[in-house]
Amino acid sequence: MPITVVGAGYVGLVTGACLAGIGHRVTVVDRDEGRIAGLRAGRMPIYEEGLAELVGDEVAMGRLSFATALAAAVAEAAAVFICVGTPPRPSDGHADMGQVMAAAGTIAPHLAAGTVVVVKSTVPVGTGDEVEALVRTLTTTQDVAVVSNPEFLREGVAIADFMRPDRIVVGTDDGRAAAVMAAIYRPLTERGAPLLVTDRRAAELIKYAANSFLALKITYINEIANLCEEIGADVGDVARGIGLDPRIGAQFLKAGPGFGGSCFPKDMLALMKTGQDHGVPLRSVETAVAVNDARKGEMVRKIVRAAGGSVAGRRIAVLGLTFKAGTDDMRSAASLVILPQLQKQGARITAFDPAGMAEAAPLLPGVAMAESAMAALAGADLAVVLTEWPEFAALDLAAAARAMRSPVLVDLRNLLDPEVAARAGFHYRSVGRAARD
Ligand code: NAD
Repeated sequence: MPITVVGAGYVGLVTGACLAGIGHRVTVVDRDEGRIAGLRAGRMPIYEEGLAELVGDEVAMGRLSFATALAAAVAEAAAVFICVGTPPRPSDGHADMGQVMAAAGTIAPHLAAGTVVVVKSTVPVGTGDEVEALVRTLTTTQDVAVVSNPEFLREGVAIADFMRPDRIVVGTDDGRAAAVMAAIYRPLTERGAPLLVTDRRAAELIKYAANSFLALKITYINEIANLCEEIGADVGDVARGIGLDPRIGAQFLKAGPGFGGSCFPKDMLALMKTGQDHGVPLRSVETAVAVNDARKGEMVRKIVRAAGGSVAGRRIAVLGLTFKAGTDDMRSAASLVILPQLQKQGARITAFDPAGMAEAAPLLPGVAMAESAMAALAGADLAVVLTEWPEFAALDLAAAARAMRSPVLVDLRNLLDPEVAARAGFHYRSVGRAARD
């Protein structure tokens, strides 16, 4: 099926490449000419495992192409997927629909009869109605449908998530549009992916409700971790003990520096705003946001305590800058709050991240970027693990301890084994577990 994808970011590029991978003929359009020129030359604008290979294969097979001009790409499409950004508005934190409405307005005049407009960007409830109203005023045909199809992929494992989704949600009450969506996703549903067709508003809300629930789980286990530190229990044991209950589930129960990333913080703010607008405040979500914001300060205090009460004049090695492992995404990363606070208290910081340093460098002025974890650690007074990259778990800890001026390690991801770290010579601090010296 001929498909056009608008937006070549994390979601658009992965969606476009994967739709080509399941047999469709896809054009991915982005207004950023540099991004499209790079993609045509085989350069990925984002780091995502397996993406370069998939894009290369699909381009070579003739199923995937890139463009900057929407008009021609849209005219031939059976479906147009809108995958543009929906960042929070600085004024009130609500999702900024500027990119979505601009994209809808640009494609509308070129839509052929029967084309399905698919909103894949995460948008507040009711946006589908607004997109449909706009499209209808600008199209030459009235035979168009606007469908909500929220995306649940996780950066770092995005291709696997797209190809083997837990569920595909399609929000529409238009039977023909639902049939087109079912046909697009048939290669995935045939191998077991559940397809859930709901009304459009439910589909829009499912995305926000899912992300906020996951963020609530993280916030909950972080508070339990604080309690563990006081009472002398191991939060890993507690998480395993509750996670084995299938009603709770083991995922998203890893204590750490608080959630971040491009989705959870902004989606929770948007859900809160939607609740407030409708006179239905979502107090659990509001509390989780406040607790998570405070968490960064708690992590700074933990680091300062590990340094003996002051980081002034100390050199701190930071391992990991991105909001999680497996991505170069720095949006709402904990590092963006924690590192400036440490700098303000007089710390000098050298950091290493396997994928995120190019993104991070302009956002973290004064932070020196090292060529490797070991280079960052050399001569440092204290080390902080901030992102759970597997290569940090595989570090030669004895060599790391020897390379540092004083072997103090604050592991904000509980990535390392406390005993192994202590045996390697570290004064080891982690989250929700006893300190080891
Ligand atoms: P992004 O900012 O990485 O990419 C958006 C792209 O759209 C940019 O390349 C931009 O140049 C392009 N664009 C904007 N307006 C355009 C226009 N009018 N015409 C052509 N191109 C245009 O965003 P993202 O991370 O891919 O997220 C996209 C949406 O998907 C957001 O709503 C986000 O909340 C949602 N989402 C993201 C993730 C994730 O993990 N990143 C997961 C699920 C859902």
